[in-house]
Formats: sequence, C-alpha cells, structure tokens
Amino acid sequence: MEGRLFINGEWKKSDSGSFDVFDPATGEKVGTAVNGGKSETKEAIDAAHRAFKPWAEKTAGERSEYLKKIYRIMMEKQDELGELITKEMGKPLKEAKGEVAYAASFLEWFAEEGKRVYGEMIPASSREKRLMVIRQPVGVVGAITPWNFPLAMITRKVAPALAAGCPIIVKPAEDTPFSAIRFAEICEEAGLPEGVFNLVTGEASEIGGEMMSNRKVSKMTFTGSTEVGKILMKQASDQVKKLSLELGGHAPIIVLDDADINKAVQGTIASKFRNAGQTCVCGNRIYVQEGIYDDFVEEFKKEVSKLKVGNGFEEGVDVGPLINQDGYEKVDRHVQDAAKQGAEIVCGGSGYEENGSYFYKPTVLKNITHDMVVMNEETFGPVAPIQKISSDEEGIRLANDSVYGLAGYFFTENLSRGMKVAEALEYGIVGWNDGVPSAAQAPFGGMKESGIGREGGHQGIDAFLETKYISMGV
Ligand code: ADP
Repeated sequence: MEGRLFINGEWKKSDSGSFDVFDPATGEKVGTAVNGGKSETKEAIDAAHRAFKPWAEKTAGERSEYLKKIYRIMMEKQDELGELITKEMGKPLKEAKGEVAYAASFLEWFAEEGKRVYGEMIPASSREKRLMVIRQPVGVVGAITPWNFPLAMITRKVAPALAAGCPIIVKPAEDTPFSAIRFAEICEEAGLPEGVFNLVTGEASEIGGEMMSNRKVSKMTFTGSTEVGKILMKQASDQVKKLSLELGGHAPIIVLDDADINKAVQGTIASKFRNAGQTCVCGNRIYVQEGIYDDFVEEFKKEVSKLKVGNGFEEGVDVGPLINQDGYEKVDRHVQDAAKQGAEIVCGGSGYEENGSYFYKPTVLKNITHDMVVMNEETFGPVAPIQKISSDEEGIRLANDSVYGLAGYFFTENLSRGMKVAEALEYGIVGWNDGVPSAAQAPFGGMKESGIGREGGHQGIDAFLETKYISMGV
C-alpha cells in the first residue's frame, strides 16, 4: 500500500520522505506512508480554517446527512476495513470487524446528537433585558490518535467535531496510518466538502508542534499515553488552547465474594484479553475476596488456558500479537518482576518471537502483592495478576491507590453493596458485572492523570462547542 496525505479534499505526497508500516503478526511490510511534517500540517490547518465558516453555517441536519453517509459506507465496507485493521494492528479479525461497527456507531450517534445543540433563555432581573445562551462550534480542531483502535479513536473525535460544525485535521499513529487513509477515502466518497476532514501522517512532534502553536487551531483532542498528554498540556498553555485528553489507564477489577463466578470470569476475560490487553480500559490488576479466591483462580485459569494465540487472520484466534518489541519487553518485565518477588505463574508466563513478531501467552499470576510493578504500571498486554483481598473497603482502597482513573470494574450480585463500590471508585468509567462498557451513547473518559473531558454520549459534543451568553436590552 502507498500512503498519501488528504489535505483540502486532495490527495498529496510530500518531499519529506516516507516510513514503512509492518504487519505485527508476520513482520511483513504492509506499505509505505508519507512522512508529513510542519509545512503539510500548516497547509491542512489553512484548508480547515477556510472550510470552517461554510461548514459551521450548514444546518445541523445538513451536516447530519454527511455523517450518516459516512456511517453507511463504513458499514458496507465492514469486512474490508476489519481486514485492514487486523493487517496493520494485529487484533483478531472478529474484534477488528467489531471495531469497525463501534467506530461507525459514533457517526450515527453524533449525526443525531448534532441536532440537539440547544441553547437556553435565562429569566432576567429586569423587564428590559433578555438573557440568552447559545452554543457555537469552537473552530478548527487538531486530533492525534493511537494505534490500538486505528479507526474508532479517529471517529470518536471526528464525528462530534463535524456534527458540532468544526473542521478537523487528524494525525494517526505511525503504526496504523492505512486505516486512517481508508477513512479519508470514505469521507471523500461521502462528498464531504473540501477542507472539512484532513489527514496528515508523519512526524509526531512536528505535526503536533504545529497544531499546538498555530493560532488557527482552536481545539486539540488527543488519545494516547499520559506522558505525551502532559507534553501537549504544557504546549497548550501558551495559547490557552482548548484540550481534551484520553490518556493511560491502570484498571482495577474487584471480585467480591458474592459475585456470580461465571459472570466474573467471563467479564474479566473480556476486559483483560481483548486486543491482547492493549486498550487503556483493559483490566490491569485483579483483586479477589478471600471467600471466592480459590474458586475464581481455578475457573479463570481453566478459561484463560482455552484462549488461542496467533495471527489475527487465523480462525479461532483470541489473542493476537503485541504491537512491537517495546510492548513485548514491557509485558515480560512486569511478569518477571512479579515472579522474582514471589508471584506464582498459574498459566502462561512467557512469550515468543516468530519472524520478528512478538506474541505473549495469556498469563495468570497469583500470590500478588500491591508493591509489584504489574500492580502499579499499565502493562498493555495479556497478563492478569490476582491479589487476595479481605473486604470491600480493602478492594476500594487498593483500586483507588493509583494516579490513573480511567476505568474500574467490579463484580457483585448485591445491589446496595455494589452501589457503594460504584460510588467509591475514583474512575470515570465503571463496569459493574460488565467487562466491556464502552458505547457511543455513553460518556468515556478519565479522572486524575487519565485525562480531561469525555468522548461519546451527549457529553461528547461539548468538547467542540463554546458557550456564548448574550444579554440583550429590549
Ligand atoms: P502509545 O503508547 O499508545 O503509542 P503515544 O502517546 O506515544 O502512545 O502515541 C499516541 C499518539 O501520539 C501517536 O499518534 C503518536 O504519534 C503521537 N505522539 C507521540 N509523541 C508525540 C508528541 N511529542 N507530540 C504529539 N504527538 C505525539
């Protein structure tokens, strides 16, 4: 595949060179993408800036039609898009097709939600005044996205931005530019006016630097590591640029002793091993109450041992490769540290390299203590460390003892007990007997160092709107 940039409704190459993209399951080259930089980003920002007024002046209903069209094309091409995601990112094909439907669902949701950007009338303190509040698009948006959901992390930003009336420039991750390019082709096919959606692949810090320093960009939205999020936050301070951040997570899973063991095991597997553990909402550390601990570990091990590792294109594969060598080394470091400090490897515990690709066996660890690295850093791999707890309070205390606050999970069949846990968890997303809570119609985002703002839900469009108060004398 040959990469291209999509700027002002035109496909472009660049003089600034190229970079190769590899299939993480085979090490084979998928294609060559364009190494865009500062000047291409500036060009895209200028195009988006020109597109802003006409796009914002369209009615919400008119914008909605474009979004619905993009949605329909994505769903028509679900299989093909899924195959592309598996090829450049490695997740099992079934999951990749699921991602396409999830990605498309943001277009459908915000096509409707854009019609409900309501203002308000406020009772005035005098008969000679009328107080009004209107909400207007914030302006040109810059978006930077990660590789773990090559399509969905783009649409979760593009759909609300476009619905609100904001043109956008997207910089996808280096590992997965082709899903983004395919999405740009779909925007073109849907007839989106020029400059409304722009795509620049290439040098992260150059593209990001231009987006952050260019005054024509009013808003930045980012999904990625907390480390890079902090860099962007510093850069944003120069111009008080509006910023939404979806950053790292370190999700706890608490299994209380009255949990339905089947629900708890299946929910934990869904949360933990989806995308080979490479999502920011994947369960990272598991706390199981002593009354159910032995049964849970036994049942969990039985089910985890059934998971098949391999190339995501192979029938029946549940866990694909890790994205790259760095990812693999981090996972192994966490497992080795735990083992050295006395953890017992219940199953898995090692990985293997095949033709330059890195796979890790689904791993369950027990006899875990709170000071192990795996309980304190995001692993981003298929490793499930299980620590024994004695009470709800201990579970909540350990779960909240983190700088992260994205997703937290717990399993209990007891309503009042569960409600107290749900309220006590310092997490933006809580899964109660549910390991996969994400949905286009629900707000997604983190507390603490996991981010700022929410994506999805009716809240998701707020990030792309300014509130204007108009006081009128009559
Ligand atoms: P991950 O660990 O998921 O790769 P990163 O935060 O490194 O997370 O990457 C997420 C996105 O941020 C990618 O598109 C990457 O290219 C981009 N990125 C990395 N460094 C910077 C930077 N200094 N400025 C702007 N974007 C960056």
